Amino acid sequence: KNDMLEQWDRENFFHPSTHLGQFARGEASERVIRGGEGVFIEDRDGNRFLDAFAGLYCVNVGYGRTEIAEAIAEQAKQLAYYHAYVGHGTEASITLAKMVMDRAPGHMSKVYFGLGGSDANETNVKLVWYYNNILGRPEKKKIISRMRGYHGSGLVTGSLTGLTLFHNKFDLPLDRILHTEPAYYFRRPDLDMSEADFVAFCAAELEALIEKEGPDTIAAFIGEPVMGTGGIVPPPAGYWEAITPILERHDILLIADEVVTGFGRLGTMFGSDHYGLKPDLITIAKGLTSAYAPLSGSIVSEKMWKVLEQGTDEFGPIGHGWTYSAHPIGAAAGVANLKLVDDLGLVQNAREVGGYFVGAMADALGAHAHVGEVRGEGMLCAVEFVEDKGARTFYDPAGKVAGAVVAEMAKDGVIARAMPQGDIIGYAPPLCLTREEADQVVAATAKAVKAVLG
Ligand code: PLP
Repeated sequence: KNDMLEQWDRENFFHPSTHLGQFARGEASERVIRGGEGVFIEDRDGNRFLDAFAGLYCVNVGYGRTEIAEAIAEQAKQLAYYHAYVGHGTEASITLAKMVMDRAPGHMSKVYFGLGGSDANETNVKLVWYYNNILGRPEKKKIISRMRGYHGSGLVTGSLTGLTLFHNKFDLPLDRILHTEPAYYFRRPDLDMSEADFVAFCAAELEALIEKEGPDTIAAFIGEPVMGTGGIVPPPAGYWEAITPILERHDILLIADEVVTGFGRLGTMFGSDHYGLKPDLITIAKGLTSAYAPLSGSIVSEKMWKVLEQGTDEFGPIGHGWTYSAHPIGAAAGVANLKLVDDLGLVQNAREVGGYFVGAMADALGAHAHVGEVRGEGMLCAVEFVEDKGARTFYDPAGKVAGAVVAEMAKDGVIARAMPQGDIIGYAPPLCLTREEADQVVAATAKAVKAVLG
């Protein structure tokens, strides 16, 4: 064992999304992970944890899948890299494109490959702008996102993200990016409305924003089918049915950000299938390779593709590409991963065991005086805490209770995530979770909640 590792880490490693001062002073939690198998990971001291967040909701097939490791090794030995510019491809990237499009909703046409969810959304915004420029609508450029939405942390994608942590001191959001009401009924007791009225309220807010800015200036709306990082919030019944006609009426494109929901997490191949959405662009990442290698994608509809194609006939090749677009190693990982998702029946497992998991969590915790809501969809679940259940008031400052519960759970060998805004514990286990493992997560949560809140 390398005794210097912790010191080297503190002295040299600039960790993302980390409290830098606390980390450098050795006050923040540190965990050096060295292995994983199935839903479990192991740290370098040999402690085992059930990872009920699948890394960052990405290791969908679980850890230690040798089929994917071998596919990566084979690809690296045969051809570690070649680019995808000016029509180049590899067996892996072309096969993966075919596999993605075989699974995507029927009206989609092509997939562009990137590296991570943030750059895929960056691509989406550029494609939307390119599309409207080709159509001779240079004013139609603004993108509407939702408060608490998460779409990445680049300049444009950090702007799309509606969490203040990702804007503060970065001078974001950039102009052209607007935010509207999220479909988060539980957080709006102040409105004193039924859920159905709240859906109508969200739709009216969106329409009012479009009218105020001018429909001719709004290019696209981006949303996660189920909001993830903003709190793991399935929308109320009828939400998407209320939103999409407004977009159609004003000729506004829909970008479904399926970085979390793509490839089975909701118990359907895509979240768009689950909610009957017909997006113009679908963002994919995480579950595409189960994070065995970095790879993302932008799936483009037939309607957009026709315009993009026509644009290049008129203006020349599209000026958009990364060196690592469609990287063969990521593509090989994707091919092996999507085969495993099928072979292991993981979409169905997400639906069945996910439903069981959310139900068991609600049974165990729903009645607790400080648990305001247990919610979920497929293999996504959240427990949200309240200070006063009757009045539905939230803890201020936020985050301490969820942070303490998650820390307590880790002592019991279960990892969940304290979501960044509010007192919300999020769960997004690998899609191969079993009922027994679900029971273990529920039991650890109940025990930790009792220890922290009584
Ligand atoms: N979109 C959604 C819905 C996400 O959850 C994430 C990351 O969690 C992203 C985009 C950004 O992906 P990445 O972190 O790979 O850049």
